[in-house]
Amino acid sequence: AVNAEGHLCAKPHGLKTMPGQEIDVHSVIMKALATTTNDNKKVQFPVILRFPDVLEDRLNTLHAAFRSAIDNSGYKSRYQGVFPVKVNQNKAVVQDMVNFGYSESYGLEAGSKPELLIAMSCLTKAQPGAYLICNGYKDADYIALALSARAMGLNAIIVLEMEEELDIVIEQSKMLGIEPVIGVRAKLLTKIPGHFGSTAGKDGKFGMLAEKIYEVAEKLKKMDKLHWLQLLHFHVGSMIPTTEIVYNAASEATGIYCNLVNEHGAKQMTTLDCGGGLGIDYDGTRSGNSDMSVAYGMEQYASSIVQAVRLKCEYNGVPHPVLCTESGRAMASHHSMIILEALSAIPEPQDEDTAEQLLSKIQDLHSRQQPRTAAVNGGDADMCSHAEDLKKHGIEMYKLGKKLSKRVTGDTQPIYNYHMNLSIFTLVPDFWGIKQLFPMMPVSRLNEKPTLMGTLVDITCDSDGKIEKFIGGGETLPLHPLDPKHGGYYVAVLLSGAYQEALACKHNLFSGPSIVRVKAAKGGNGAFEIVSADLGPTSEEIISTMRYDVMKDISSVIEERAKKNDVWAMVEPLMTNGLTTMPYLNEYKAPKTT
Ligand code: PLP
Repeated sequence: AVNAEGHLCAKPHGLKTMPGQEIDVHSVIMKALATTTNDNKKVQFPVILRFPDVLEDRLNTLHAAFRSAIDNSGYKSRYQGVFPVKVNQNKAVVQDMVNFGYSESYGLEAGSKPELLIAMSCLTKAQPGAYLICNGYKDADYIALALSARAMGLNAIIVLEMEEELDIVIEQSKMLGIEPVIGVRAKLLTKIPGHFGSTAGKDGKFGMLAEKIYEVAEKLKKMDKLHWLQLLHFHVGSMIPTTEIVYNAASEATGIYCNLVNEHGAKQMTTLDCGGGLGIDYDGTRSGNSDMSVAYGMEQYASSIVQAVRLKCEYNGVPHPVLCTESGRAMASHHSMIILEALSAIPEPQDEDTAEQLLSKIQDLHSRQQPRTAAVNGGDADMCSHAEDLKKHGIEMYKLGKKLSKRVTGDTQPIYNYHMNLSIFTLVPDFWGIKQLFPMMPVSRLNEKPTLMGTLVDITCDSDGKIEKFIGGGETLPLHPLDPKHGGYYVAVLLSGAYQEALACKHNLFSGPSIVRVKAAKGGNGAFEIVSADLGPTSEEIISTMRYDVMKDISSVIEERAKKNDVWAMVEPLMTNGLTTMPYLNEYKAPKTT
């Protein structure tokens, strides 16, 4: 929402937020900048604003969706979900999830040993019986840890990715004297299109085909351990685009579940875990025909699963299982936004070429495309460099084509490069890695027409460090001219609460942002409180992840050299400041358009 002052506002209770309850994001930024962090430092940009109220609302909405689908269809079991820790491992997020989901026995999913340790500790605060789903490839240590979780009274379920993992479970269970509960991950034939479905289907990377699953059941039966097997899991990929695919996947998996119960005697089966994939509509089109959009909401998702499972179970005379999902993106995306600070805006040099000159450049590039056979005759290396040339020429021709079209249509508005206090690789890695687009918009001046067309350029030394594709397909974002009289100019990256912090990389040794947690204050009139503010990793912390002993390898070496040159008095405070602040630009003066 946007308020009367033209400021972006957050809706802490999602669609249930009443008019007047919205939180003014610009005011939050101002207050955050005046707040000292827990260790008495100033909040630095970039900043993530977290709204735990939004997490709670997403979780409540998911549970309400399943409750109503179950009630309306006469489904005879319940929904009991988990949050996949990989989606956002931050302590506050995982703890909030467990806390907000307490009454629904909401649990956690782990995909690695460190995530399992986080889950084991956070679930000590969960309702007894909440699931601890152990996914991912496992070695003996992982399995032993999961068994120890069960011994501690946590409801840990070891989901077998491969048949071989069963042997490790048997061995570790014998050694530790702990009975496991296991699940199996099914490799379904139902696939989703696009990027997120590329590892699913029968040749997919994860899980076992139905026949293999039945072999696992038979092996357990022979050992008289079939009662260990209690859960069937599948995950067809993130961002499932349509309810048709949700339905088909759940139906196919329920078929396997029913065969396990009826044909292989796995009568102790209790749970069908439908994995993640509940999508969100990044581009707002509800079309479901790209990786940016899904054609349904939580209610339709829940009712597709409930109906598919109910019908298949009733057809096979199998009791309805407990339904679990591992929805991550749909739980966490909305709860945080990344706030980027503009440093300056500079127009891109205008192209001086006439339409005729541009056309002749395109023709020249076209005529330089070598015949393919010449390259083939030259062997693999030539073929590769030929392909590289074709790619380069193709990109160049595309760019020239765009310039030509602008010349012809008389669209000569310059593009402004907005330099932002940002590393794309660290803050929006999915933009860089998989071309994921996020909604972005200025935080203030939204009652003033944005007159410039801007791209967002980051501060890494990398040509990929530029955002020039936005939701809706445009190559620029409408922005306002920077003017010091307005103070700072901030752009919010929305729907960024899932995966981005987890996937962040350390290009140029930029690192995570400051994190400010904001809660709606009692009274519901837009008042808010900053519950915590923490700096992102300092330069010292990020340097040490590259195996430097900062004291020994950096500080003392610089000290010795500075002393030799008799400049230590000058260098010492600078070095200390450099090491103890975040690597981003600090205390930047009010930004300008030039
Ligand atoms: N479960 C498993 C096994 C996954 O691999 C993933 C992520 O891809 C998830 C759950 C979370 O998926 P999503 O964020 O799409 O809900």
